[in-house]
Amino acid sequence: MKNEKALVVFSGGQDSTTCLFWALKNFREVEVVTFDYNQRHKEEIECAKEIAAELNVPHTILDMSLLNQLAPNALTRDDISIEEKEGELPSTFVDGRNLLFLTFVAIVAKQKGARHIITGVCETDFSGYPDCRDVFVKSLNVTLNLSMDYNFVIHTPLMWLDKAETWELADELGAFEFVREKTLTCYNGVKGDGCKECPACHLRNKGLQEYVSKKEGAVN
Ligand SMILES: [Zn+2]
Repeated sequence: MKNEKALVVFSGGQDSTTCLFWALKNFREVEVVTFDYNQRHKEEIECAKEIAAELNVPHTILDMSLLNQLAPNALTRDDISIEEKEGELPSTFVDGRNLLFLTFVAIVAKQKGARHIITGVCETDFSGYPDCRDVFVKSLNVTLNLSMDYNFVIHTPLMWLDKAETWELADELGAFEFVREKTLTCYNGVKGDGCKECPACHLRNKGLQEYVSKKEGAVN
């Protein structure tokens, strides 16, 4: 595996940055692909660019602004607020987003001679997104291989981890401080520990606190 090339689906957030460090450890050559779909915050794209530059990783940015044309949602539209109601899909949901993203990444990957694709999708913190499920990723992997007659392998290092375990993985990869300070997960566009108010910050910081207290417990 080491001697091959991999592409990481990369947003500049905690999860995909952890995946990037994982890829850098496991593959000879790594590139990242970011989707520009008129995110609420241009900071997201800027943050992804900065991280790729700092880690010296080639970066492709794909224009996916058509996503908003297909499905107006809270991630792309300022006039739709971010809400998560019990038993309902969050307002950030876009049907088939991972299906599209992984398919576009596969097309780019084949052109670049890379058969390994890494994505930070996760079933554990599954908030109702059907195309984040392991069964979906495995199914799409088969479909992509058939559609392009190519031997893709989709890797999902975070699939069964919760947020605290994702911090643990970043730490094991020697990237804890980097991920904590330089990534952007916050819906309000605040880097690092974020605005501490939005659902993304709550999830991230809860996992961080769990991991830090677990680590301190292990030391004492
Ligand atoms: Zn926030």
